[in-house]
Amino acid sequence: MTIDTLKKSQLMSKEISDLIISHEKVAHVQLQNPLDHALLILIKSGYTAIPVLDNDYKVRGQISKNEILDSILGLERLEIERLHDITVETVMNKKIPRLKTDATFLKALTTSINHPFICIEDEKAAFVGILTRRSILALVHRYFQ
Ligand code: AMP
Repeated sequence: MTIDTLKKSQLMSKEISDLIISHEKVAHVQLQNPLDHALLILIKSGYTAIPVLDNDYKVRGQISKNEILDSILGLERLEIERLHDITVETVMNKKIPRLKTDATFLKALTTSINHPFICIEDEKAAFVGILTRRSILALVHRYFQ
């Protein structure tokens, strides 16, 4: 085995734990929050989408600015007054990528092709943090240098 092949296989089988942004630093909302609150968090954090958690700190989905705006789109205008009456749970995207903390870098790289971030869970499915496409690409970039 050449040194390059060895380095490549080490990278791909590496665990993702070092790359995770810890849950304390992740902006999130909860299922029962109204959409005006979620929009506020999204705008203030500057992110397009953030995780949605339940009361047990488990990930239930993601919510994005686009989903919120789409849900209040009337025939001729955005019905902003409805933002307070709709909950996050009603409009969130439930089909989201998730990985366990011991997932390999290769699995994360593959998943990140279609997702800007991946929610990471522990063995009891509690939310640990997120893995962003940016941090995955940064490591690949370091490897190629
Ligand atoms: P980035 O690669 O840093 O631009 O992050 C990609 C996406 O991951 C962002 O658009 C957000 O949806 C999400 N994200 C990154 N960092 C955070 C964070 N601290 N809290 C919540 N979501 C985040």
